[in-house]
Amino acid sequence: MEGVNEYISITLVANAGVCIECDGVGLLVDGIHNEGGHPFSRVSEADMERMRQGIVPFTHLDYLLFTHEHPDHFTPQYVLGHILNRPVKGLFLPSETDGSPNLALLLDRVRELAIPYWTLGLEPGTKQRFELADDVIVTAIGARHMGPQYATIRNDCFLLTVKGMNLLFTGDADHVAEYYAAALTDVTVDVAFVNPIFYNNKQGQQIINEIFRPRDVVIYHMPFAEDDTMHFSSLVRRDVKRYARPGMQTHVLSEANQALALPVPTARCPW
Ligand SMILES: [Zn+2]
Repeated sequence: MEGVNEYISITLVANAGVCIECDGVGLLVDGIHNEGGHPFSRVSEADMERMRQGIVPFTHLDYLLFTHEHPDHFTPQYVLGHILNRPVKGLFLPSETDGSPNLALLLDRVRELAIPYWTLGLEPGTKQRFELADDVIVTAIGARHMGPQYATIRNDCFLLTVKGMNLLFTGDADHVAEYYAAALTDVTVDVAFVNPIFYNNKQGQQIINEIFRPRDVVIYHMPFAEDDTMHFSSLVRRDVKRYARPGMQTHVLSEANQALALPVPTARCPW
């Protein structure tokens, strides 16, 4: 019989910023940003201070990953401020070629500090696998950013394999089946994280149902209630009802420090 003896904990930081922790290893996806000019929420100074100090839920913060360089996902200056205060084991960053001067400055310091890093911005539909530890694998999957105005911007999706569980973070990747189909052949996605536009879109739903086929779908990249000037929460509430289907649980991450505990079935554990 399948039992549960461990959990992967997921904590929302702000917008698409999520902290993932299991068995003493912590990863942060799109979780350091504090700039305006967009209708989403920023990471609070208090949270960034907790990250620097290693206070719960940031006790473990080993790897920082960023899907793309947009101000609601990634502020390079703040990442630099973080790594100067607290060592990390590795950084997954967008391509330097299309990046800002601030990304170039961050990379200069990262090289000086000899911190392991990988710059991505992978070709859409291709993937690259990184074994970080015995039970932690990152597979980056290349895609383009959604929206015609951002068609030239690459967005790396991250498939995190932790304790045999596969968590897929799509960031702002477009709902184009070709980006995912080959990369996810033979992969059982346990939990898929998508933004409200992806979830709302017909092709997005088709990709969720036919390619991701996750046990849980998590809608993230939501503003907090006080910042929700574009009414994303009512859109998502309607869509969750409309697209509900048996065998797939839906969660919405929209509150600061909102947490999910994902059970790891013992059958997947190697012991
Ligand atoms: Zn975004």
